[in-house]
Amino acid sequence: MKLDLRPLLAGERLLKFDYELPVDTDPADTASFLFGVSFPSPMKVKGEIVNTAGYMRMTLNMSVDYQTACARCLKPVSGCFSLDLEKTVAPRKLLSDLDENRLLDYAIIDDGFLDMDEPLLEQLEMEFPARFLCSDDCRGLCPKCGHDLNLGECSCDTRDFDPRLEPLKQLLEKMKSEEK
Ligand SMILES: [Zn+2]
Ligand SMILES: [Zn+2]
Repeated sequence: MKLDLRPLLAGERLLKFDYELPVDTDPADTASFLFGVSFPSPMKVKGEIVNTAGYMRMTLNMSVDYQTACARCLKPVSGCFSLDLEKTVAPRKLLSDLDENRLLDYAIIDDGFLDMDEPLLEQLEMEFPARFLCSDDCRGLCPKCGHDLNLGECSCDTRDFDPRLEPLKQLLEKMKSEEK
């Protein structure tokens, strides 16, 4: 959505907004920050811009339902991700001297309009947690047989299993068998 800020620029004090923004990312896109995550319903965006004698401040809340998988056992995990944002709203020409990082603190007006959607989707990518667990004490899957250890033990010996040592173990076993 593009917000029409011309009334604020002309001296109005308050603009409220409340709308829905679809998040159509591809959960199968491994290059995406949101890989493995799907958003079954649109993101809800609600907030306001207050104009105090030409200084404009935007506060908003964005919230979206997500579905993903536990990082340890791959069980489905779902929930609602919510984020509060606060930004100074200013015309692009006033911000021309700022570098990229400082610009993140601003919502930028172009020709009287504020494009909300792209910055909000970028913010979602930046702030969305990289991994979820089905519970804090999820025991994950057996590294050998893939059994879900939350359901009980498997019969594998994994007490000191370290995949990095596997080649060494094989070498030792080979030496042992050659000794005989
Ligand atoms: Zn889990
Ligand atoms: Zn196992």
